[in-house]
Amino acid sequence: MNAPLPLKVTRETAAQAYEQVARVSNEVAGKLAARLAAETCGEVLFSSADRGRYATDASIYQVMPAGVFVPTGAPDVKTALDICRDMGVPIVPRGGGTSQCGQTVGTGLVIDHAKHMRNIVDVDVDKRTAVVEPGIVLDHLNAALKKHGLWYPVDVSTAAQATLGGMAGNNSCGSRSIAYGNMVHNVLGAEAWTSDGHLLQLGTWSGSSGKARELGAYVRTLAEELQPAIHQRWPTVMRRVGGYNLDIFDPRSERPYTTDGSVNLSHLLIGSEGTLALTKSLTLQLAELPKAKVLGVVNFPTFYRAMDAAQYIVKIGDGTLTAVELVDRTMIDLSLQNPAFAPTIRSALIGQPAAILLVEFSGASKADLLPHLKRLGELMGDLLLPDSVVEMTDDAPQKNLWEVRKAGLNIMMSLKGDGKPVSFIEDCAVPLEHLAEYTDALTEVFRKYGSKGTWYAHASVGTLHVRPILDMRREGAPKMRAIAEEASELVRKFKGAYSGEHGDGLCRGEWITWQFGPQINEAFAKIKQFMDPAGLLSPGRMVNPPKMDDTRLMRFPPAYQVIPIQTSLDWRAWDVQNNPATEQTSAPGSGGDPAQGFAKAVEMCNNNGHCRKFDAGTMCPSYRVTRDEKHLTRGRANTLRLALSGQLDGINAQDAFTSEPVREALDLCVGCKGCKRDCPTGVDMAKMKVEFLYHYKAKHGYTLKDKLVARLPDYAHWASRFAPLLNLRDKIPGLAALSEKFTGFSAKRTLPQWQSRTFFNTLHATATREELLAASKPVVLFVDTFNGYFESDNASSAVKVLQAGGYAVHIAAKTKADGKSLCCGRTYLASGMVDEAKAKATELVDTLLPFAERGIAIVGLEPSCLLTMRDEMLVMGLGEAAQTISGQALLFEEFLAREATAGKLEGLKKKLQPVDQAILLHGHCHQKAFGAVSPILDVLKLIPGAKPELIESSCCGMAGSFGYEASHYEVSMQMAELSLLPAVRKQPDAIVVADGTSCRHQIRDGAQREAVHVAVLIARQLGA
Ligand SMILES: Cc1cc2nc3c(=O)[nH]c(=O)nc-3n(C[C@H](O)[C@H](O)[C@H](O)COP(=O)(O)OP(=O)(O)OC[C@H]3O[C@@H](n4cnc5c(N)ncnc54)[C@H](O)[C@@H]3O)c2cc1C
Ligand code: SF4
Ligand code: SF4
Repeated sequence: MNAPLPLKVTRETAAQAYEQVARVSNEVAGKLAARLAAETCGEVLFSSADRGRYATDASIYQVMPAGVFVPTGAPDVKTALDICRDMGVPIVPRGGGTSQCGQTVGTGLVIDHAKHMRNIVDVDVDKRTAVVEPGIVLDHLNAALKKHGLWYPVDVSTAAQATLGGMAGNNSCGSRSIAYGNMVHNVLGAEAWTSDGHLLQLGTWSGSSGKARELGAYVRTLAEELQPAIHQRWPTVMRRVGGYNLDIFDPRSERPYTTDGSVNLSHLLIGSEGTLALTKSLTLQLAELPKAKVLGVVNFPTFYRAMDAAQYIVKIGDGTLTAVELVDRTMIDLSLQNPAFAPTIRSALIGQPAAILLVEFSGASKADLLPHLKRLGELMGDLLLPDSVVEMTDDAPQKNLWEVRKAGLNIMMSLKGDGKPVSFIEDCAVPLEHLAEYTDALTEVFRKYGSKGTWYAHASVGTLHVRPILDMRREGAPKMRAIAEEASELVRKFKGAYSGEHGDGLCRGEWITWQFGPQINEAFAKIKQFMDPAGLLSPGRMVNPPKMDDTRLMRFPPAYQVIPIQTSLDWRAWDVQNNPATEQTSAPGSGGDPAQGFAKAVEMCNNNGHCRKFDAGTMCPSYRVTRDEKHLTRGRANTLRLALSGQLDGINAQDAFTSEPVREALDLCVGCKGCKRDCPTGVDMAKMKVEFLYHYKAKHGYTLKDKLVARLPDYAHWASRFAPLLNLRDKIPGLAALSEKFTGFSAKRTLPQWQSRTFFNTLHATATREELLAASKPVVLFVDTFNGYFESDNASSAVKVLQAGGYAVHIAAKTKADGKSLCCGRTYLASGMVDEAKAKATELVDTLLPFAERGIAIVGLEPSCLLTMRDEMLVMGLGEAAQTISGQALLFEEFLAREATAGKLEGLKKKLQPVDQAILLHGHCHQKAFGAVSPILDVLKLIPGAKPELIESSCCGMAGSFGYEASHYEVSMQMAELSLLPAVRKQPDAIVVADGTSCRHQIRDGAQREAVHVAVLIARQLGA
């Protein structure tokens, strides 16, 4: 058990792989790793942390695989399959791992298709078909199809991270399935390996031959023999995804699987959850992108009436109806509590509805669709609900409302405490005429078990999502079974489908026999035996599944324990318990977490995989570069969870938190806080990294680089005196390389240039403390180390702009002068020196408190410094004073935007000269995390003629000192090249605005352009 962790198994070290892996795992794993390393080009991940990161998906389950394999292409998959067959090791295929039912967890070898197997093989625009590899993400496919006016219309909510292979595996369904159907309705063909290594070509039955033909004939015979049972037991709703599609020759779905009545053998794989074959490619039926959409929001006085109305609504629209989605009162209230969403949701409401239905019509033009909206209103009148429809015909409000519908779920999932909304009966589908009765009865069931459920989603097809709140560490498992039993009775009563969207996996596998009966279940077993006689592919799923409430398979079994930790930051807000019926949480610190709330904060990650997205937003820049699960917010949270609960094999539980696997997982986290904002459950990895570094560095020591970075505010005043000397590092050849050896700062980087004349050693005509307190328009300017010592011009510009606006500006300074400047503690936090950061923050708070208490704004220029006052300083144990400061702390642009809105900047506006250049804006990650980007746009728009354009970028890659470090240089540049640098290069004449010191440096290094702080640009437009 003494092998060094994490294991690095590569082709070069294949010869040692057996010994390495066998020592920490077992002989079979050792042999498997050695063969994979020697015979493939893929990544062979067998360390305990790697396996742990692939032991979970968005379900409640956790099963440790023997190892993980990341193929570089189809030949690697085939070789891995052959090796596994030789060795009798099971395979669990995986895409984005966003399944909610445990489909992607299992012993054996997990094969991750998402990293490399994501090519679009072919698009036939005329035929509207595409051939894709299984690892491509739906949004990425649709982005590529957009230019052809086409899309793949199975629009799952996880479109930004779900892969087509995974969607096919689960027979996924989108919000618009009423118009387009499920996966099974939109797949035309598949190439897939059976476990004996045969590559099946699955397409139309009439065109089939060879083994595919044999398979089809076999299934047809089975289905014919079982026709009476199928007709008796098979749910006829469209949303039936449980079991195998034994009905392809005689579809029982209310929507036929093919439009021309033909039989397609690839449909056998759809919904088979990786148990029948490994998908190599899929041929997809594409659809024309709708040209116009309109939305009618129907307001209902009771939930029951909303549910009852769905059956009538779906009949209108003459084929243009594309969605009927539910938002219930809980969701409405959650959205109203969120300042960002409140105006949008309010615009959709009439009075205080108990529920709303979002009814969407799509077609060639808005004019064509308007009569359908009108008809919707009439229908509501017929149902005795006149004037209950809010019509939305413009695109923007529609888009905003759809965003709110998604965000409501996210807020629901962010419930703190051990009780969580659990998905296990979350997608039963019932015929629409029974929807009202079904939801009513199930709500009663929840009540009976002391829980409650929030209802949302697909009213159009009778599949409403609902997750009762259960505490899986305590009495959750038996309650889950009891609720499932009662829900199943209701589903049977209303002739519905128990598994209607998210698949069977571990939580619904055992219900397949219940749904279809023993005969059909036996036929499923025969299909499995025919396709996978060796039982290699996801064994124990679909056929012979375990019990849903087997706690040995769960992420939080009753034996789950957390290793005690004394935290440096205050995590008590997470250390709470909740009441499942009311969702009220207990007092901070009362949750019983031995890690003082840190473990519970980590456990907020429910593995939904939203951090795998590549679209707008910041989360997660390191994953976007490496595409490794390890460098994903989810991967990091899982690594921390495994460490904190002593589940990293081969590592002493007490040492696990400060171990190498955890350091590795967090190494490329740039602390951008993208996850703080974008993660649905608010996992704040940047803060977690600070906590980790505190413990890690305390144990392993600080490097010279750590000290140089952290203590910059302490030595900057002294160093600036030797500016010319220190700047020689970037002037004399060889010095940068030498300094890299000693300090770890990359020789490929220039360092920020020291100035002899700094903001702090220059006199400014600013207000004294007394003048400020007497002023009618007072403002305190907090000048940070970076702007004060390296880019004084930014601070001087800010003074100039504020004074031009008529403000009395006071520069915050130490009450007891010691030659140093005030500091927020940011650089210390970045190096894990939390105690020193607290000391700096305490001094800052003490100095600023008298101003904050008088309601005077405290304005800062460097986003990461100023926003520390609104974030980390609140968890440093500084009490009410820190809260008071936080309430007054504003970025320069936030302050100006606020004042402009209040009409206080009219004088300043008149003084601004017009600008005729394009302006590009790059938002600092922390600005994005705090919603502080739009104020910069607002402020820039004060300049006559300015049309600022926001660059859709994630982190610039510099992230404080991260990008300066030799070990991170390459990754840092790759992050910048994702979108920021190409956007800057594309507009060579544009003014580039970036408020972050390191962002400006990265832009200079990568695009050889001088970006400016917004204060500088505004000051420039004021003239001399
Ligand atoms: C918040 C949230 C919202 C969701 N919303 C929806 C929704 O709107 N509609 C919906 O249908 N689902 C939804 N899901 C469930 C899930 O996102 C979808 O089922 C998604 O399609 C899964 O894609 P994936 O790439 O993550 O697949 P994975 O979870 O990785 O895999 C899914 C299945 O496919 C199999 N598989 C993967 N690749 C292959 C391959 N190459 N060969 C054979 N088998 C393979 C796996 O073994 C597994 O059984 C949601 C999940 C979450 C967490
Ligand atoms: S970190 Fe957040 S977004 Fe990522 S999987 Fe966990 S909960 Fe989802
Ligand atoms: S802080 Fe940024 S880099 Fe770190 S996990 Fe969150 S999104 Fe990723």
